[in-house]
Amino acid sequence: MSGTIETPGVTTEIDPRLVPVLESVRHRNPAEPEFHEAVERVLRTIGPVINSHPEYLEAKLVERICEPERQIIFRVPWTDDRGQVQVNRGYRVEFNGALGPYKGGLRFHPSVSSSIVKFLGFEQVFKNALTGLPLGGGKGGSDFDPKGRSENEIMRFCQSFMSELHRHIGEYTDVPAGDAGVGERELGYLFGQYRRITNRYESGVLTGKGLTWGGAQVRKEATGYGTAYFAQEMLRVQGSSLANRTVTVSGSGNVAIYAIEKVQRLGGTVVGCSDSGGYIHDPDGIDLELLKQIKEVERARLHRYAEERPGAKYIPDGKVWEIPAEVALPCATQNELDGEDARRLVEAGALVVAEGANMPCTADAIAVLREGGVLFGPGKAANAGGVATSALEMQQNASRDSWSFEHTESRLVEIMKDIHSSCYEMSEQAGRPGDYIVGANNAGFARVAEAMMAMGVV
Ligand code: NDP
Repeated sequence: MSGTIETPGVTTEIDPRLVPVLESVRHRNPAEPEFHEAVERVLRTIGPVINSHPEYLEAKLVERICEPERQIIFRVPWTDDRGQVQVNRGYRVEFNGALGPYKGGLRFHPSVSSSIVKFLGFEQVFKNALTGLPLGGGKGGSDFDPKGRSENEIMRFCQSFMSELHRHIGEYTDVPAGDAGVGERELGYLFGQYRRITNRYESGVLTGKGLTWGGAQVRKEATGYGTAYFAQEMLRVQGSSLANRTVTVSGSGNVAIYAIEKVQRLGGTVVGCSDSGGYIHDPDGIDLELLKQIKEVERARLHRYAEERPGAKYIPDGKVWEIPAEVALPCATQNELDGEDARRLVEAGALVVAEGANMPCTADAIAVLREGGVLFGPGKAANAGGVATSALEMQQNASRDSWSFEHTESRLVEIMKDIHSSCYEMSEQAGRPGDYIVGANNAGFARVAEAMMAMGVV
């Protein structure tokens, strides 16, 4: 059976046969540290699958998986409200299409670069494979900063971005969604421009759409909900749950808000969340309605929360990990939880860290958490609920159907439980029960590899 490991035991030392692959990735993609790191983390853990399938080495499968199928970089010119021309850069990396159309979000943030988009696209390939749904992996975005921009500026930027991107996407080719800086508003402008240029109402070309124009129930909530469900499963295996646990969540964007909502519904108390300027400490538990009002309706900064809420404090320039917690859910951005933060969590007696964001924990942090006996859920498993629900949106678009919130959420729960058990079982087969990194990387890699082998050298 594919994915079965015949050689138990794994080490975080890289298999010597994979060293030249990593060296070649570094050499061919200079000055792309995030991409190098994402590749290295996977190559360090896939020894078990490689040992079971030495034919993958002969077929240069690892080399092929590390090389994107296609990378598109384009100019995005637009005019701001003062009549000044602005020029941004757009990206779409179609990383691997062995399991289905390329699928992955678009990120608008000044830090977006080839390195960031390739790291995210590479991660997405294995994440999508873990869902068990027919999805390839890709990612895209722009170095455009939406902060402080007017509605009209955001619309004009999105229209210019789609004027190029439309050539490369389609419901059977490549299906983008949102990510940091791209939510329902931006997807609306992108879809509007796609429809205008192509003269096709092709709902399945984008996911994360609004409910009145082809979107699916639960998509907005799915990544955060899924992360909370994954943490709940990790605790369940230990005979525990989120009920009555003290929880901290970083970020206060889409993933963070809905992770907080689901943790609260599962009986946990979220005592802190953050933004890039600092964090809120609310010992009575976050008032979610107030947080949504400030972040989703007013689109204001997080410090406003403490102004409205007696008992809550905003700590500028601090990190939410300073608050002692039993469960920590990093839901903001890459490399935001470092070794020092991890040591603080271990000392405070944390039980679980599950990543709502992509690669938010540094390698150093993960080592500290492992040594400290903290269970660690990597993003490619713990935050896969978003893309899984995007696949459910695609299913509904293809059949021109629309499912209820309850039905869609029950599918999400099922998928998160399945992802958890594939990772857990794979970690057991590798002789490392509860090592979800080894479990997720080997289970995801095995699925992609099997499909690629079946398709020959393409
Ligand atoms: P949003 O743009 O909605 O929110 C991001 C949040 O993180 C904002 O509150 C932002 O604050 C905060 N933030 C950014 N940098 C830092 C930092 N250094 N320290 C603390 N907070 C910070 O993005 P999403 O919620 O959509 O995405 C968050 C993460 O989840 C990303 O890694 C994304 O790739 C990942 N993800 C998202 C999915 C989705 O469906 N949206 C799916 C799977 C993964 P500020 O406003 O100050 O910038």
